[in-house]
Parts: sequence; structure tokens; C-alpha cells
Amino acid sequence: MKKRNLLLFILSILSSCRNEEQTDMSQIEISSFNLERKCSSSEALEQRLRSSPELKNMYTKDLHEEELIEKNLESGKLINNETVVIPVIVNVVYSNPVNNVSIDRILSQEEVLNNTFASTNFDIGKIPNLFKPVKAGNIKIRFTVVDFKRRKVPAQIWQADKNLMKTEQYGIAATNPNKYLNIWVVDNLDQSSTGYSSFPFEHGRWYDGVVIRAVNFGVTNKNAMYGLGRTAVHEVGHYLGLKHIWGDTACGTDNINDTPQQKNAIYGNPNFPFYTSCGGTRRVAMTMNFMNYVDDRSMYMFTRNQGNRMEYEVSARGHRSSLRKN
Ligand SMILES: [Zn+2]
Repeated sequence: MKKRNLLLFILSILSSCRNEEQTDMSQIEISSFNLERKCSSSEALEQRLRSSPELKNMYTKDLHEEELIEKNLESGKLINNETVVIPVIVNVVYSNPVNNVSIDRILSQEEVLNNTFASTNFDIGKIPNLFKPVKAGNIKIRFTVVDFKRRKVPAQIWQADKNLMKTEQYGIAATNPNKYLNIWVVDNLDQSSTGYSSFPFEHGRWYDGVVIRAVNFGVTNKNAMYGLGRTAVHEVGHYLGLKHIWGDTACGTDNINDTPQQKNAIYGNPNFPFYTSCGGTRRVAMTMNFMNYVDDRSMYMFTRNQGNRMEYEVSARGHRSSLRKN
């Protein structure tokens, strides 16, 4: 690990020499962004499914499999026993130099991913007693940034369904998405989206990976709405097979049986308990789940079955098994 950090440090210096516009955390402006979290993962997927019958077929098959997986996960049949370390490539495609995130920001994001997946995040103790029985504990997935790339480009706002920031022509093409989790950091996304991800059944496609709006990336200002690096935790949740816990429709399902059904997305910093009603039943919502839309400081847990689901995707039987072979 130390050797790796030294390598990244050297890369950082070389990168700084090449590009004097790289900034540090003190220069980040966090005033000019939309106040509500908005993730474009589901909408962008809908667009892809509409434009590709082949992908639509794969998706339909996968939905059926997902239900079977959920049943098997419940009975503990598919759990992977070893910790999988996912190698990560960070692609910084920026126009405004303030969004050319520093190596410190990149490493802070790696640390947040590792802490939250290990359930050692500083605020894990805030999980209410009601939800303690279903908390994830140690999810056996870790992340290591093995390289980062930077490119200054003219575009400031990108469309999630076009993925142009992932092309050689306009941005930075993915480094082998069969082997690496690619994360793109961009100035802004259309409709003030905070980020989006592809899903496991799309593993290895040219656009496979996670996109994060720069102001949401890494640890910045702990008092800011998005200063704790949790947008990437949410998007990596999608990358590893999780859905929004309200299922992207009123009282929908995320196919995870230990997250309470929730009517709609929940935003901001709700007080506990926060109630939601579906089919005439009133429940306490798991507002603090990473797959909700609350502010960074109000999201701090995955459930056990969300963890199992993500472990399954990187197990030998999952869509993302090839991430293990590095
Ligand atoms: Zn999302």
C-alpha cells in the first residue's frame, strides 16, 4: 500500500509539472451547484434500453436472475468469502481548472469508499436501534486507485445518456472496463445531476463505470451538502448492482428484502423517525441508506443484503467477477 501511495505521489508531481492548473482543496468553490441530489443512473439506463433491443433483452434476463439471486442470498448460498480489492482508474475530464481535482481529493475518495464498505465510517454509530439488526457490517470489497488521468477539454456540461466524457474524441476513454472500475470526474452534468453509473449486466462495455460531478467528488468541506465523498459511494452501489431503495417509482422495489419499502426519494437531512406510507402501511423510512437521496452527512449505512448483493456481483459467479483477476 505504501509503495502504491509513493507511486501515486510521483504521478501527482509529474502531473503537476505537466499541468500547472491542478488545484488543491483550499481552492474548491462549493457555492454554485444545485441543492438537491439527483442521480441519473436509472434515466440514463432507460435511454440505453430504448436505443438497443439487444441491451433490453440482456436487461430483461438479468431482472429474472436478480430475483433468483435474491432468494439464494437470503438462504446464504452465494456469499463470497474473500475480500475483493477492486482496482480503480480515475479519469479527470475538466474545463474549469478548479475541477482538476488534486491527488489528495482522489485518495480521500478512495478512503471514503473503503471506510463505508468496511462500515468503519466515522458516523456508523448513528444507525438507529431500529435498523441495527440489518446493518451491513464489513462488506468484503475494497478499492485501490491504481492510476489517474487528466485532460482539459472545452465542454463543461455533459449529458448522462451520451457518455461523451468517456470517448477519446471528447474526454478520456475507459481503461479496460473488464479489469478496472473507471471513475470519471467532470465539471457538471445536465439537469444538475450529481452522478450516475452503469449496472453490472453492462460489465466491460466501453461506457462501463461511474461519473461524478467534481464538486461531489472526494472529501472537501465536511459541513457542505456533498463534502463527504458519498456521491461516489451511492454510484458505486449502482455499479455493484444496487437500486434506489424506493425502486425509482412510487412504492417500488429495490429487490433487497431488508430495506423498508419507501414511497419516493427522500432529500436533505430528515429527522428520525421519518415516516413513509405504501399500500396503506406506514413505515419508518431508512433515510440514512446510501441508496437514498439525502445529503452526505445524513447517509451512512448499507444493509446486510445490499452488502451480500454487491459481494455477489464480484464473486466468481457475478457479472463483475473479472475485476478480481488483477
Ligand atoms: Zn442513484
